[in-house]
Amino acid sequence: MKSLLIASCGMNCSICMAYLRDKNKCPGCRLFNKNEPVTIAKCKIKNCATFKRSKSKFCFECKEFPCERINHMDKRYRTKYNMSVIENLENIKKFGVKEFIKNEKIRWTCSQCGGTICVHRGYCYNCRKK
Ligand SMILES: [Zn+2]
Repeated sequence: MKSLLIASCGMNCSICMAYLRDKNKCPGCRLFNKNEPVTIAKCKIKNCATFKRSKSKFCFECKEFPCERINHMDKRYRTKYNMSVIENLENIKKFGVKEFIKNEKIRWTCSQCGGTICVHRGYCYNCRKK
């Protein structure tokens, strides 16, 4: 898992449905290029002007953090997918991105086959174990 796969909003791209799928695969928020036809182009956080101006690497470095956009996303993810991007950001801030990735690896690796558990689907992309 590379740090480039951790998006500015604290989302771990490597457990995202768009990243894990075979067809029309997204390379990750930070590696995305405009010509690729994936939904990320519409992401309000990725396209956030304040964030871009601030030249920050993560949202917590932004003067507007936590803004309405990230609060909204956080609420959606906590409710629907049992994951908090704000909590992710706080962990990155506290322990650094390397340590965060180490813990993410443990959290999202399938105990049965070693595959990756998808945050959106809630099961392992490899063997479908929940
Ligand atoms: Zn598995």
